[in-house]
Amino acid sequence: MEGNRKVLVIGGGVSGMAAALAASKAGAHVTMLERMDRVGKKLLATGNGRCNLENRNADAGHYTGSSSKLNAVLQNVSPQQVLTWFEELGLLCDTQPDGRVYPYCYQASMVLDVLRLALERQNVSVECGCEVQTVVPQNGGFSVTSQDGRNWQTDRVILAAGGKASPSHGTNGSAFSLARSFGHTVTPLYPCLVPLRCKSEVFPGLKGLRTDNCRAGLYADEKLLKEDTGEVLFTEYGVSGIPVLQLSTALGLAGQRPITLQLDFFPHMEETAVRNLLVQRRKSLADQTLENFLLGLIAKKLAYAVLKSRGCAPLSRKADTLSDAELNSIAAALKGWRFPVVGTQGWDAAQVTGGGVSLQEIDPRTCESLRQRGLYLTGEVLDAAGECGGFNLHWAWCTGLTAGRSSAIK
Ligand SMILES: Cc1cc2nc3c(=O)[nH]c(=O)nc-3n(C[C@H](O)[C@H](O)[C@H](O)COP(=O)(O)OP(=O)(O)OC[C@H]3O[C@@H](n4cnc5c(N)ncnc54)[C@H](O)[C@@H]3O)c2cc1C
Repeated sequence: MEGNRKVLVIGGGVSGMAAALAASKAGAHVTMLERMDRVGKKLLATGNGRCNLENRNADAGHYTGSSSKLNAVLQNVSPQQVLTWFEELGLLCDTQPDGRVYPYCYQASMVLDVLRLALERQNVSVECGCEVQTVVPQNGGFSVTSQDGRNWQTDRVILAAGGKASPSHGTNGSAFSLARSFGHTVTPLYPCLVPLRCKSEVFPGLKGLRTDNCRAGLYADEKLLKEDTGEVLFTEYGVSGIPVLQLSTALGLAGQRPITLQLDFFPHMEETAVRNLLVQRRKSLADQTLENFLLGLIAKKLAYAVLKSRGCAPLSRKADTLSDAELNSIAAALKGWRFPVVGTQGWDAAQVTGGGVSLQEIDPRTCESLRQRGLYLTGEVLDAAGECGGFNLHWAWCTGLTAGRSSAIK
């Protein structure tokens, strides 16, 4: 190990804090520069303020990007090693049955407090309100300059400045300009874990409605890209909820093809079973109006919207007037209501960044750039977007710890 090596971390976010702590623990003098007035602003917002900080099942299958490279990076730090690291920092965690891990007190602020105390105890020099503008290789190291003209000379640089998602938490995409300045290619960027905008007049009327046990599927032309089941939330412009956010990670696969969202309100029943149920209800509810025909199956507002979309009107009609063709059409809608996807809610509403610096351009064992020796890349700068469930924070800790350790000793 070289003594007194200077490591400069650009970005005081999740992977930046992990990198700074790992580098200083390995003996480096570490400086961390953060453009916001405080470090870790995004961490505070994670998991709705509860911070889903890890997932015990984190593997390449939960991320976009090249799986062999992903695997190689993920092998550096396992979920258990992240939790042991937190334990050493003094943070007690709680694992849920599905593998999601939270701080024991379910407060993101506690995770940040623990990290900040560790930065202080390990003498990491933290400068906030400092946006890095240029990084230039110089004398075997780097010259780093901030927007307000301050300058640092350092041996190693860790680029941990995040992606483009949720810019109110500090991530303005400047990391990609810095990466490009070293000749890195950045694959096309798109907002991920983001609500979808869909085309249909039903949405304003369904605004605020939640329906659990709903399977959402994303199709490009007729090809299924991804599906997920859970609670879907209708909004004025389209749909949200965890299954929908998960689907958005597959948007990068669609290319220019038209995209469709399909909702299945009875994922555990075949369409024929749903149809038979409707036939039976047409008999048992014969004297009832259409207003009550789907009562007890799906939420009232949703039922009216489904019936309306199938031309089953007016609602004052009696159930026994429904034709077989109408029943087939209602069953098809309940099993696969389709909406054209016209976009997403954009970077402001996105939790992560799809695309980024290709994993082909880093050494997966160290996260060091293959374009520039001594430069390391971590977190969302890299082309790997994880699903909801703690996978993105795992990626940030894993790459941060790997780069921090390697930058200090390699
Ligand atoms: C609302 C929300 C909820 C989320 N919830 C979860 C969750 O529960 N679980 C999960 O796994 N993931 C979650 N995520 C995703 C997770 O927070 C990110 O993937 C993770 O923070 C990425 O870490 P990072 O280090 O790459 O970037 P960040 O944590 O975004 O840190 C980058 C830092 O760099 C700074 N910076 C940018 N440019 C510069 C510059 N030029 N100079 C100096 N500093 C700069 C930024 O201000 C920022 O502080 C959530 C994201 C959001 C927005």
